[in-house]
Amino acid sequence: MPELKPITLSTPLGEFRGVGPERAELLARLGLRTVHDLLLHRPRRYEDRRQFKTIVELVRGEAATTHGKIVAMGVKRWKMGTRARFEFILEDGTARLHCRWWNQVFMEKFFHVGDEVLVFGKLLDDRPRTMDHPETEVLESGEEVMIHLNRVTPVYALTEGLPQRWLRGLMWRALAATEGLIVEPHPELAQELASWPTRALALRNLHFPKELADAERGRQRLALDELLELQVAIQRRRRNLESHGKALACGGDNRWIKPFLAKLEFTLTAAQTRVLRELRHDLAGAVPMRRLLQGDVGSGKTVVAACVALMALESGFDVAIMAPTEILAGQHFRRFAEWFGPLGIPVHLHTGAVKAAAAQGRGGQGGAVPPRGATTAGTGVGTTSARVTAPALFVGTHALIEAGFVPDRLGLVVIDEQHKFGVVHRERLVRKGRYPHLLVMTATPIPRTLGLTLYGDLDISVLDQIPAGRGRIRTFVRTPDRLPKVWEFLRAKLAEGRQAYVVYPRVEEADDAAGIKAVTKEFEKLAAVFAPSRVGLLHGRLTRDEQDRVMAAFRSGEVQVLLATAVVEVGVDVANATVMVIENANQFGLAQLHQLRGRVGRGAHESQCILIADATTPGAAQRLGILAATADGFRIAEEDLKLRGPGELLGREQSGAPPLAFGDLATDLTLVEKSRELAGKLAEAVG
Ligand code: ADP
Ligand code: MG
Repeated sequence: MPELKPITLSTPLGEFRGVGPERAELLARLGLRTVHDLLLHRPRRYEDRRQFKTIVELVRGEAATTHGKIVAMGVKRWKMGTRARFEFILEDGTARLHCRWWNQVFMEKFFHVGDEVLVFGKLLDDRPRTMDHPETEVLESGEEVMIHLNRVTPVYALTEGLPQRWLRGLMWRALAATEGLIVEPHPELAQELASWPTRALALRNLHFPKELADAERGRQRLALDELLELQVAIQRRRRNLESHGKALACGGDNRWIKPFLAKLEFTLTAAQTRVLRELRHDLAGAVPMRRLLQGDVGSGKTVVAACVALMALESGFDVAIMAPTEILAGQHFRRFAEWFGPLGIPVHLHTGAVKAAAAQGRGGQGGAVPPRGATTAGTGVGTTSARVTAPALFVGTHALIEAGFVPDRLGLVVIDEQHKFGVVHRERLVRKGRYPHLLVMTATPIPRTLGLTLYGDLDISVLDQIPAGRGRIRTFVRTPDRLPKVWEFLRAKLAEGRQAYVVYPRVEEADDAAGIKAVTKEFEKLAAVFAPSRVGLLHGRLTRDEQDRVMAAFRSGEVQVLLATAVVEVGVDVANATVMVIENANQFGLAQLHQLRGRVGRGAHESQCILIADATTPGAAQRLGILAATADGFRIAEEDLKLRGPGELLGREQSGAPPLAFGDLATDLTLVEKSRELAGKLAEAVG
């Protein structure tokens, strides 16, 4: 045997005793390359093998562990050999158990008559006693009872060719070999962590706990380490921001906001006024603003964005507002042009389709960019004359991130419906300026765990008030057989002069999605159902022009029913639309349904949201029931987080979600809070 190098945590697994190149390859497939990776491979579940059942004690329908000796085995084939089943019979002196694998003849090679085998599975039948596809382990004589039996035993995720017992044995040896190598990541926190298991003990208990509770405590400790690392990174980012120098002075001088508010057709809610005070304080402060504005659907975030944009514009800076869809960007553009036009502020639209137009009059493209040196003379109020061009507002989609958009002096970035963007997008836009202020807005309430982690570097403002004079929204859940009644109701509303949305999960039908409706197909059918009312079709595969035309027709009332996909989910604002019907409602997340519902209830009329869903999907009724029961977006988001995890809540494009192996952002609020507190202690110790 060659001289063995001492083991460290970073030793490649291939160099670990008993791991050949082939097994190392299989481990790599699970993402396990070093000893440390291996130790962090979390058991998929645990089996309490302190309490075996004898075969005769097995209860039908219940999962249990038992063991015995193989007394017979074989493969049975039928249907001309196209179907096959491998089976062995296990005996333990009390009874016999048939274990079967359908179409997995290869299982045959893993077993021999006479083998002692441990099986874990659910008893399907008791005449004869049968289990299908149980988990198995062949017991080898003389093997350590310590590891596999008579204890709470870890069960790991595997890959084909990697035996459970072997991996468990390897884990045992790896833990033994690294005793003393696993140190506390932050020894200075010893006192704060006195009541916690050490990291070394936590790892040991994660894999080989005495009691299940020890494994959970171990997991919590490892999660805490993980979350602490995240908090330290967040706090470091924050300190970088604070240390870069003085922030751009964007507090404004009121010369545009005053006339703007005077002309506005409504007065701001108390919440809007309070939030604007918070924002102005940031814009005039020493550190660039990093703020999240959270306000439920319809709380009036757009006008807040307009006011804060005016502050920066008054101060002589450009402002960029980014929205996730062309429809929403177009809507913002129209609204801001209407609002700011009379004040003489240029407003540009910058989307994939109209980039060239956006550059007009600014020389933003094609080399006509004014030299930067000319615009850096001053930053504060009263020095705006140093600019070559007047400050302008740029509204756009992702296109703003691209090279064609070159603002002169970006003072403020506003990101609408921020959950539709990744952190990376946000940062790329911010980097178009020199530490501009940043406001991100979302209607998806951020549960506290996410607020403290993913959004941990942002201050949070909340618009907790819906403007007065809104009709209420009533929500109903209906099965598809009730559709004729729903359409009848909808026709009555149309006759009263109202408008409606009907939303579908798909653009076109797909073979692998039977029963899931497609908007294009339904459009053909429903046009006749709603005649003489006019029906419009809106989805992401239409050209931008087509989308614009349909939206314009819907806004003007020329089209009364809009059949759409979830492209209308964010931001669309048509006050006369009061009915929202969502078909295949189970295809959408709760937070998303809440957003869709927010498209109605924007005027004084009472509105209805009707969710059409099959009652057969398990848990579906309860899930949609939450929506029917509450209009509280925060509760809905929390439920969504529990049901679908943070990735879903934040949208598919949210690339900033931290990959956590041990922490769970849906449930670990206490750990998140603890990690934040510890990160604070660390910063104190350093600073
Ligand atoms: P969201 O917060 O969902 O983005 P919007 O900004 O689209 O909401 O506002 C929804 C509607 O409420 C818009 O038509 C807007 O003009 C209107 N609105 C905003 N603030 C007020 C207010 N203070 N009083 C009355 N209506 C308001
Ligand atoms: Mg909005």
